[in-house]
Amino acid sequence: MLIDRMELADITKPGPMAAAVLKQVREQNNGVLPIPIPIEEIAYGADISGISPIQTPGFQGALIITDGGSIGHILKNANSPITRQRYTVGHELGHWLLPLHSVKTKELYCTSVQMTRDFSKNLSPAERIEVEANMFAAEILLPDREFKNDLRPFGEPSLQALLALSEKFEVSKLATAKRYTTLNDHPCAVVTSKDCLVQHIFRGRDFPSLGLKVGYPLPPRSHSFTLKRTLKKCSEIVLARWENWLKDQPHATAELYEQVLHQADGYIMTLLYLNMDNCPDEDEEFIERSSIWNPTLR
Ligand SMILES: [Zn+2]
Repeated sequence: MLIDRMELADITKPGPMAAAVLKQVREQNNGVLPIPIPIEEIAYGADISGISPIQTPGFQGALIITDGGSIGHILKNANSPITRQRYTVGHELGHWLLPLHSVKTKELYCTSVQMTRDFSKNLSPAERIEVEANMFAAEILLPDREFKNDLRPFGEPSLQALLALSEKFEVSKLATAKRYTTLNDHPCAVVTSKDCLVQHIFRGRDFPSLGLKVGYPLPPRSHSFTLKRTLKKCSEIVLARWENWLKDQPHATAELYEQVLHQADGYIMTLLYLNMDNCPDEDEEFIERSSIWNPTLR
């Protein structure tokens, strides 16, 4: 595998950078992307000279740059699960390829917290490059086109689908959940918690605002809170009361569904999705309302 970095020279954003690298990978594989993405092979192809275990405690990964910027070396926490190590290599490759990430320092050390940092307002420049490296890692390991193609046959959202995709793409459940909610055709969200306190919220574009934030307790009347723990087995998908999860009532005929996965050490993953099938779309609703006042409209 050979990644031509000259072709990437004008790209500054993580999404287009990942897409441009994957385009080169596709071209070298008869138009097909190998899944799981061979992230280490890609890194070596992009002039990374080596990938070795990190010895400094407290860090998940690092990028060490030598020879005036021409050689990059990636360090990763070899004790982490494979999915985590792959994400780390993706993250450090993002630092290596994206301009301005390694201008001020020749050694970038990254912690777990930095590797889960999400976009928010008022980021410092140091935080911004971590967010960009995370976006690059997610987009290169879970490519839009292939991920959507594999997601659609599952139909309505389910944790079984999310787990199958996480396994196929060799990416953690957490990183997959984020992409799963973003790229799903159905409005859905994933809430993760530990010891019943919310840790992450991933919400698809069309999913309504939740009535809880990171750090809040799980809704005490929710299926997630009340269900007896059965480790590593997805619960049934049940109809949920919107008051448990949402800030405002969705359309009166919309149905909210909930599914739960209990993981080790008090971690819970909750999938929520909204079924809008019975809701009249906005145009129909407009005609419905207008026809009350103007019987000739129909
Ligand atoms: Zn980093």
